[in-house]
Amino acid sequence: MESVFETALITLKTAGELGGIDENVIELLSGPKRIQEFRIPLKMDKGDLRIFTAYRVHYNDALGPCKDGTRIVPDLTLDEVKALAFFMTVKHAVAGIPGGGAKGGIKADPRKLSEKELEQLCRAFIRNLQPKGPWADVPGADIGTSEKTMAWMLDEYEQVIGYHMPAAINDKPPILGGSLGGMEATGRGVSHALSAAAKDIGLSIKGARIVVQGFGQVGSVAADLLRSAGAKVVAVSDIDGGIKNDNGLDILKLSQHVEKTGSVINFPGTEATTNEEILLLDCDILILAAVQSVIHDKNVEKVKAKLIAEGANGPITTSAEMVLLDRGVAVVPDVVANCGSAIVCSFERTQGITDDYWDIETVNTRMEQRILKAYQEAVATAKEFGTRSIRNGAWIFALKKIERAMKLRGMV
Ligand code: NAD
Repeated sequence: MESVFETALITLKTAGELGGIDENVIELLSGPKRIQEFRIPLKMDKGDLRIFTAYRVHYNDALGPCKDGTRIVPDLTLDEVKALAFFMTVKHAVAGIPGGGAKGGIKADPRKLSEKELEQLCRAFIRNLQPKGPWADVPGADIGTSEKTMAWMLDEYEQVIGYHMPAAINDKPPILGGSLGGMEATGRGVSHALSAAAKDIGLSIKGARIVVQGFGQVGSVAADLLRSAGAKVVAVSDIDGGIKNDNGLDILKLSQHVEKTGSVINFPGTEATTNEEILLLDCDILILAAVQSVIHDKNVEKVKAKLIAEGANGPITTSAEMVLLDRGVAVVPDVVANCGSAIVCSFERTQGITDDYWDIETVNTRMEQRILKAYQEAVATAKEFGTRSIRNGAWIFALKKIERAMKLRGMV
């Protein structure tokens, strides 16, 4: 199976050819602008020394300063960080954010570190990275990082430079200058993009049967908002397995069950299902909010949903998407569906720079406007260039903007 970075390069090539993008721009975007790789020595609680590998990839900054998350996972690869940094470049362009794309990460298992070790690791990451501030590179959170880790990173950064600079780090707690609405931004954005796409294909959200793979920060928020809009969430899953009930799940009670037990499984009044089976259940809308490459050549023919949203990055392989489009299934691609947190992170930086902090209604309203515009621009561009793929539409739209910026800068 292709790697996520290979998937990104295939989309670049396809969208680049369809959109008539200058070949020098394609060549430049076929790899990152800058890769930083460093080794962080850490004295563990028991006195032994361990060395952790870390990365920060600046993919492209033609449209503005590099921004986005920091992933701490045990199986982190440079390929993954490059792909995610590339996706961020495209997401920022699609969402009208004047920013470039970046991603970072540390190869470590945060669950196997004590709180003190994790704090030391996060602080050492910032000391080694030496980010240059909000006009150059703004690290944020991702898998394995949280408001708490970003607070440590901000504190370390400010101690090093010797003054306050809240806009230098994203996804920090609101009391330290973080934006309201950041935690639920992606799930909220998925529900807005899905509602717009459902309208376009004549599907009513009211009464729609929804399946969600991945009941985490993204999947649970999207499920709850769509349920409030009248949809019926008939199945959800997490890493331990899935649950289903044709009459619909009580999302509030399910969230309480997850809080208590740590998993969706064994939720009373439901039947068990698996992560493979859940993708193939009879439903109107499928939300993929777990991991990459879950719909591929071997299972795509059995997918029954009419509309799919990619909450996760790259959950549908390139060839599987072609099969879905041939069958008339609508796909809202990752670079549109999950750009809610990228939008709110950009708001967070703006609030930090101006020292003017917004209320939650302002954040949510502005985010909804941005994501709906991103969806509409992607659909309109797809139509203009004669492709059924909203993904290609979004990428062509983004590539045209990046191309213009590169040419004006004299880069190509
Ligand atoms: P999360 O950790 O809160 O939740 C992930 C969910 O997926 C959990 O329920 C987990 O148990 C489940 N899961 C993990 N591995 C799985 C597997 N192999 N099979 C099935 N289920 C599995 O993460 P999240 O923040 O909800 O993010 C979900 C996805 O969306 C991730 O891929 C993330 O990279 C992507 N994403 C998140 C954001 C964001 O703002 N949180 C933004 C863009 C993209």
